[in-house]
Amino acid sequence: MPPLELRVLDGADCIGGNKIAVSSGGAVLLDFGINIKRKRECLLGYRALAVANMLYYYLYSGILPRIKGVYREDLVALDERVKAVLGRGEPIEASLCIFSHAHRDHYGASGFLSSGIKLAMSRSMKTIMETMLESSAVSGIEAEVFEMKNRGGEGPGARERPIIIFEENSKIPGAPFNIIPHPIDHSIPAAFGFVIEDLSMAYTGDIRRHGPLKSLTDKFIERAKGVDYLIIEGTRIDSSIIVREDEVIWEIRRYVEEKEGKLACVIVSPADVDRIKSIIRLSEELGRTPVLCPRAAYLIDRLAESGTKIPLPDLRSAGIYFERRSLTRGGYDLESQHYRGWLKRTYADRLDGRKPGTLVKAEEISERQEDYLLILGGLDQILELAQMRPRPSSGLVVSTSEPHDEEQEIEWAKFERWVNLLRLDMRIAHSSGHADRETLIEIINEIGPRILIPVHTENPQEFHRLAEAGELRCEVFLPSPAKPLRLAT
Ligand SMILES: [Zn+2]
Repeated sequence: MPPLELRVLDGADCIGGNKIAVSSGGAVLLDFGINIKRKRECLLGYRALAVANMLYYYLYSGILPRIKGVYREDLVALDERVKAVLGRGEPIEASLCIFSHAHRDHYGASGFLSSGIKLAMSRSMKTIMETMLESSAVSGIEAEVFEMKNRGGEGPGARERPIIIFEENSKIPGAPFNIIPHPIDHSIPAAFGFVIEDLSMAYTGDIRRHGPLKSLTDKFIERAKGVDYLIIEGTRIDSSIIVREDEVIWEIRRYVEEKEGKLACVIVSPADVDRIKSIIRLSEELGRTPVLCPRAAYLIDRLAESGTKIPLPDLRSAGIYFERRSLTRGGYDLESQHYRGWLKRTYADRLDGRKPGTLVKAEEISERQEDYLLILGGLDQILELAQMRPRPSSGLVVSTSEPHDEEQEIEWAKFERWVNLLRLDMRIAHSSGHADRETLIEIINEIGPRILIPVHTENPQEFHRLAEAGELRCEVFLPSPAKPLRLAT
């Protein structure tokens, strides 16, 4: 067996931006996320980067790691300075990049990946990535995950990136090792952990044990038992707070019940299909018509078409929120350019009766506020509430848990200003997509690895401390992007 080497290229001491290279003869990348924190620190919000300089700026500022062999040839060829910044280090010759789930801090930098690296994901994960990208504000290279525009000028125009679809519990085709994806519980459907059987290694991706799919996490732990090396996420290694997913739904129920005669609204990530499903059911039980934001409806439509096994919400008696966007026909002219393609399609599918759900306008909600529960997809959508003129002390529940949606990058202070302007009674009902400290300790000791490699955490030292205190029964290796871990096979 050739020597086993592990390089955590990014995401070693921060939350998000996971990029892990595993090599032993062949090589694979595990995740290739955008380091949203670093990006926010370094990019000036009002300055859109020209495509010609983007890779250079990203490498210079450390938004992307300086690694040879992994970046797109057309982008590297475009700029002499990029070659200089990439320096003299050993290149990584990965044939495959395998994604754990469709959060952007795990796949969002893959638009920069070399066309020689195939992307591996499950079919539902692919649908979520495509749909969320299409309906987001992401543009330029970051949006070129599935289709690369030719940025060099010569040769063909756009190229499809080679994709490998993997099935749960069976070997990923075309990988240099026996990598088995196991579904796990996280705050987005189609999330996976991996066991690399021939390298005696496991990677959790983002994981929790307090959501509705807990039994999947349990099964993953069972399969990973006894591996030599465990790469684990440590987002919440400093927190022992556990709020279960079902508790979030009870809290929302309690808040909405208090709001008799008033409007009630919940803000939730459009990709958290499980939570949306529960809120829709709850709304119907409380006798309010759920009105879903179009982005979440679009995702549910596409997933339904893909024949996914993910249990989807039933939209037959739901409303779909009709955004007022045009300058003609009273603000609701679908022919107008102010409706983007995906949005037009979501609305046209309702007007023509091809998809379940009825379009509901702000004016209708305004007139019968007590009859609706509005489900919005991000903090910025509070502006929609201004159009409904909610009665004073109407209810707003913030139920978003992932800090890496572009919507959530909007400053909380501005959001609160609108909450006050609109005289809303705001509450937070939130359950994390990540395991707390006690559960992480439990997971590690149940798997029982020889060596633990924490990633996706701002406090990797805490794992060290826990091992020294005897709480963890394994050795802890703290990775650094510069120093590859040479592991024995
Ligand atoms: Zn995640």
